[in-house]
Order: sequence, then structure tokens, then C-alpha cells
Amino acid sequence: MESKYSGYMGRVVMYDLSTQTLTDYPWSDRERELFIGGKTMASKIMLDNFTGQEKPFSEENLIVITTGPLTGTGAPSSSRFNISTLSPQTLITTSSNCGGRFGWYLKKAGFDALILKGKCPEHSWLEINNDKFVMHNADDLWGLKTGETQEALQEKHKMPNGKLMKYGQLAIGPAGENQVLYASVISDERASGRGGVGAVFGWKNLKAITVRGNKTVPVKDPEKTKQWIIKWDKYIKSHPLTGNQLPRLGTAGLVSSMQMRGMLSSKNYNYGKYEHFDKVNGETLAEDFNIVNKGCLTCPMKCARTVEVNGKPVKGPELETLGLLGGGILNPNLADILKWNYEIDELGMDTISASSTLAYAMEANEKGLWKNGLEFGKTDNISQIWDDVAHRRGIGAELADGSKRLSEKYGGKEFAIHSKGMELAAYEPRRAVGQGLGYAVSNRGGCHLNGGYLVIVEGLGLYTNPLTHHAKADFTMLFQNLMETISASGQCLFTSYAFFPGFLITRPNGVITTIANKAIPFIGGVLRLINRVSPALALHLPVFHHTKIFSYALGMPMTFGKYIRTGERSYNVERLVNSKFGVNASWDTLPKRLTDTPQDPNNPKTKVPLETLKKTYYKARGWDQNGLPTKHTLRKLGLGEYC
Ligand code: SF4
Repeated sequence: MESKYSGYMGRVVMYDLSTQTLTDYPWSDRERELFIGGKTMASKIMLDNFTGQEKPFSEENLIVITTGPLTGTGAPSSSRFNISTLSPQTLITTSSNCGGRFGWYLKKAGFDALILKGKCPEHSWLEINNDKFVMHNADDLWGLKTGETQEALQEKHKMPNGKLMKYGQLAIGPAGENQVLYASVISDERASGRGGVGAVFGWKNLKAITVRGNKTVPVKDPEKTKQWIIKWDKYIKSHPLTGNQLPRLGTAGLVSSMQMRGMLSSKNYNYGKYEHFDKVNGETLAEDFNIVNKGCLTCPMKCARTVEVNGKPVKGPELETLGLLGGGILNPNLADILKWNYEIDELGMDTISASSTLAYAMEANEKGLWKNGLEFGKTDNISQIWDDVAHRRGIGAELADGSKRLSEKYGGKEFAIHSKGMELAAYEPRRAVGQGLGYAVSNRGGCHLNGGYLVIVEGLGLYTNPLTHHAKADFTMLFQNLMETISASGQCLFTSYAFFPGFLITRPNGVITTIANKAIPFIGGVLRLINRVSPALALHLPVFHHTKIFSYALGMPMTFGKYIRTGERSYNVERLVNSKFGVNASWDTLPKRLTDTPQDPNNPKTKVPLETLKKTYYKARGWDQNGLPTKHTLRKLGLGEYC
């Protein structure tokens, strides 16, 4: 269905892997206005197609690959695409946002989204060339690691003159084939890591997808779009977080700040500091190992690190991996982390869930609950463990099911660090209680980003009181909403880091920053009002360039208020999908270690007051006590048909 808006290619298609048939999926301009694209679009498609009876490993489960309307327009950091599906890890919806070239080429092939259903009758890979979909046998690729698979696909994309075609690709590794519950999908070097999307690919016998096309993404006003992008790029590059810290140190640059604030989880979240943090932080990575910075297409931040492993330049670890495979398992050896990070990606697994599950297993062993031979600080056999997990061999077969299921079998639920079955990132929420709320209510489970990333005001950008519950729920809702729309547009969430004026970051002790930090806990009511009347905020903010690009590039009217409301709708649509599978307030939890045991035994405030926070959060969101959207909220968001 053609669109009156630019930025969109106008086609959403459904491909049946069982029968190899392609059909158009109706998607109207009204839906484009309400749901934009990306994860939000995927959630709406799942909401309309799932009854709540579907199983992750079933022909009825959908894999929904979506792009955003800004992908292909040249907007900063806009090459992202999203994969959503019913997660085998959490049994509810998951979405995994990824860089790489795949989204860009999916649009060049003429598609805003690709929905996959059914199951390939044999090991297969799918080749898309504009409108042409061809399924190939993948017996020669089955068993290969993600890098090997992508290299083999390159050979299949060479022209007669030996030159490589321009195309995007996705691949799973052995972990996906063996349905490790946190298996990832890899695109180039980037990962769609969370929630086990790779396992669903594997169950459906789908090893890889390649896509190429020769269409152009339409842009409404190319000149104004170009001017705005130049201005925006300049702003991003001049901001201390997006123009300095991220390009210089990547996300790894946060390790030292987290240590300073007691937010660096250590020994499976027993502590918030790691004595050898300086051996595994961003500064050491940059000085001793970083070869070159790399980035996704159209990204001025280039946060990715390239490091050398066994003489080969490979993708370096993110902060979460450094934290969880450093202090998390009491390992001060950065070279080991680089190697393991590469191995986990090559096997096709999520580094966060793999690392956190390992830490749980070490603690279960230490406490005598599960004699598995794994010990904190004992790291000589870890590479073998990853291989065993990906191939489901020995204790690897058990680790492949993640910490939630292991704790149900062996005990130790209080230190299985997950929410809704998905393991948490390395941010210790007992020193950032707003982040704790975010982890608990996040629609896809223990995700720092889907949770609102409140650590940025609780110590990693601003320094408001990290232990108070005041204003945290309203802030969480606002940030979640903003990030939902950024993601739906096809942009990287890191573009939101420039939201706070740079001087607040560079002058942490300045008068204005001090006032801002002190004032934040008292502005919950103001934030609540902003959230409530958002459509009335028909304005643009100078620090938030995301809104004006909509009218320049897409010809779609957008304001700051509408942007917030769109994100709010998105969050609720995802919640509605999950409610079909039984999600309610009882799912919004954290392990007792984080809610009942103070991180500092002498300071009872160093734990997450989750029930208090949840109560305010549900109220702010217009959800009932059971954590579900009320009819009034759904009608307000244009979702009345789902009442
Ligand atoms: S900030 Fe990093 S992850 Fe985001 S688009 Fe840029 S390079 Fe990719």
C-alpha cells in the first residue's frame, strides 16, 4: 500500500517459510502516523495476529523484521532495524534493535517490514533481491559460526567479475540452531542479541537472510533534510557524551563512573564495586587494545570498538559485557573478555544473558546448590563452556536455558538476576533505584534501555539522588516514551544521550547543575503533567532534534508532545501483546537480592523500593493496580478497539 509520507517504501510483506509464498500485509497511513515503524509497528502486528495461545517454537510464531522511516534518509544513526518475536526465553514479546546494513538494504529492496511465519521444511537461507524471494538449502551453512556463515554468503554474492554485490545479511550461529534460549542474530558485526530471536530462527530452520535492492528511499524535502542533518550531526559531535565520551571510549567509558557510584555489579550482583575495575574499563581498553573506532551507517558517534583477538580485528565488548565478565565473575583479565566476547558473538549468543547465567551458576556452585565445577575467578575453561552452551553439551545444555530456569531447578531464585526471565545488564540498581524500576517493568524483561535508562540521571550524566523514589516513576515513563519513538523511527537510542544540555554534564559541580540535580526529585508532578497533556506541547526543543526531521524528511507533522504520546502508545501496545500471554503486575519483579538486601549493610536505603515505585509508575501510566492499561488510557491513545 503506497504511502503519502516519504521515508516509507510503502510495502509490508508476509512470507510463509513453509510454503514459500509472499503476500502483502495491509498497513495504512493512519497506522504509520500512530505507530511510526520499528518495534512499535512490530508490536502492533503481533497484537493483531497473536491470540495468546502461540508458543515461541511454533509455526504460528512470527518473526517481524521492521525498519524505521528515517532509515535510508541519512538522519544520524538511522540504520537501525528491529527483530520482534515471541521469545523462548521470556515466553512474551521480545524486540531486538540492531545496526549493520540489513535494514538499509531491506528498504532498498522496497520493504518497510518483513513478517516471517511458518517453518522452513529443511535447513534454509533466504535470498531477497528486490521483489524476488528465493529459498536455498542451507545444509552447507548449518553448523557454521556467524562469521563463517557470513563469509560463505559473501561467496554466494560475488558477481561474475569477482566483485562483491551490495547487500545486507543476517545469520545465526550454532546457538540458534540448538535453540539456546538467548541465541542472537548477527548482522555484520552487530547483534540482535536479546530475548532469543536467534533460537526462533533456528527452530524455523532459517540460518540466514540476505537482501539487496536498487530502490531509493523517498525524502520529502531533500534540501531542508540535508541542512537539518548537518546541524544535528554538529550538535551530536559537540555534546560531551555523544561527541566525546562515546566516540573516545564507547559504552566501555561508563565502567569507571559506575564504579565510582557503586553501580558496577560485581560477583553476581553481590556488590556494586569491583576492586580491579581499572583493569577492565574503557580507558584500559582504549589504551591497550583498541585498534580503531567503527560505527553503524550514518552514525556520527561511532561507538563501536575494534580490537584484536588472535591477530584478527574483531568487534570489542560493550560496557555490559565488560561489567558482567569482569567484576561479575571476578575476572580482571581484559584480554580474556575480548576473546570471550568474540567467541559468544561467533557462536551467536547474547553476551548479557550468557555472562549473567554463568555468574548465577558460579554462585549456585559456591552455595552448594548445584555442583557444577564453576567458580568465581576460575576462568581457564570458560571458552569451552561457551562452546558447550552453544552446542548444548554437558552443563552447557543447562546453562543454555538461562538463570531463571536454573534457579527454578536448583534454587537460589534470590540471586538469579533476571526480570521476566531476561538477565539484567551490569548496572547495579540498588544504587540507582529508578533503573531498578525500569528493569522490573520493562516490556521485554530485564533491559536497561527498554526500562528507560534512568541511570543517566542517577549518576552517569546527571547526579540526582540515586536512592530516592521521588520523581523516578514519572521520569522513567518519560524516558521510556521518548526512546520508544526514537527506536520506532529507525534511530539509535544513543542519540537521546544529547538530550541534556552539555554544560550540565561537563560542569557537574556548577551552580545550575547542582540546582538541577537537587530539583529533580521534586519535579515528579511536573513530569506527570507533561506526560498527561503531551499532545498539547506543540513545540520543538532545541536539544531534541528528533522531531523536526519528521516534517522535513517524511512530510509527517510532529511536535515534542506528539513524539512523547507516540512513545506512550508504543509502550502500551507492547504491554497489550504481553497481557495476552498473561503478563500483569506479578511479572514486574526483581530478584530479592536487589529489593530486600541492602547493597551497603549499613545503609538500608541501598535497595530498590520496588513496590512503592511500581505503584506510582502504574498510576502515571494510567494502568490499573494489576499493571494493565485501563480503558480510559487505551481510548486516549487511539487504541479503543482493544478495550
Ligand atoms: S551510537 Fe554506536 S550503536 Fe548507535 S548507531 Fe552509532 S555506532 Fe551504532
